[in-house]
Amino acid sequence: MAMDTYMSLRVSSPDPGEAAVLRGEIERLDRLFSPDGENSDVARLNSSGKITADGSTVELLSRTLALCAELDGALDPTVFPLVKEWGFIDKNYRIPDRATIDSLLSRTGYSAVGIDGSQITLPEGFALDLGAVAKGYAADRCAAMLRDSGAESALLNLGGTVAAIGKKNGGADWTVGIADPENSADYIGYLSCSDRTVATSGSYERYFVGDDGKTYCHILDPATGAPVQGDIVSVTVVSDSGLLSDALSTALFVKGADGANKLYRERGDFEYVILTKDGVALVSEGLTDSFTLKNSSWRLEAVK
Ligand code: AMP
Ligand code: MG
Repeated sequence: MAMDTYMSLRVSSPDPGEAAVLRGEIERLDRLFSPDGENSDVARLNSSGKITADGSTVELLSRTLALCAELDGALDPTVFPLVKEWGFIDKNYRIPDRATIDSLLSRTGYSAVGIDGSQITLPEGFALDLGAVAKGYAADRCAAMLRDSGAESALLNLGGTVAAIGKKNGGADWTVGIADPENSADYIGYLSCSDRTVATSGSYERYFVGDDGKTYCHILDPATGAPVQGDIVSVTVVSDSGLLSDALSTALFVKGADGANKLYRERGDFEYVILTKDGVALVSEGLTDSFTLKNSSWRLEAVK
């Protein structure tokens, strides 16, 4: 267990201690990024507004802030006070009133985060959480460590963010399942891939049903301060970078299917599978050969 999820590391390496080294690194990153960890960089920043941070925190935060700008603010780690207010941290779920949301919204905005060397600052009343990107960053760190040590094959499942490194021992591509939103123990289909990171964000992962009968998921729209009520139930992103896949899976959820496709055409550095509320699996062009649909109650639609 790390970063609030179950992880599994399957590594083929001449060094039998390799998986333990990766585990140690993931635990170190978890201790830095955990928003409620006693002495984590993120918890210290949120309580004091100014810290001298570990190099990994500086690297992740600066790369995340650059992505927030590229994604027009659909990704924004400073929505954390709202994530808390909706009850997603203490699991005491509630629908805040409009005035509370507006007041907290005035204390969000990624551009207010300051980085100067190893000094990170946040204005009074702000707080952040790297939960949308930490697993992707950890996957990249592990992949780099494996490359350095000469290991050629690994499947790292960091709870919804999966790094497929090299090939399976037999030489075939890895297969990564895409969870069935109705039954996350099952898969609607799978992707075969090699040297890619696959990240999924879904509204079925953490949600509650309000007194008004509506379902509220754990991904917030930074523009409204409320859980996204879009056309998507899950987004899976495939790219060369764990951080990019993880950041995009969250941001595309916010942007919705049309916004996701627009970004796909503009960027050209990722592929996706979006499951919509209408039961359609939108599969981007570059994945049509590697995605296999298993559950025929979903309708597959190739998009470019
Ligand atoms: P993920 O499961 O990778 O999509 O990350 C979702 C987590 O990131 C949530 O549990 C929140 O803690 C946080 N979060 C929610 N909405 C956003 C957002 N729009 N941008 C950045 N982080 C978010
Ligand atoms: Mg994410």
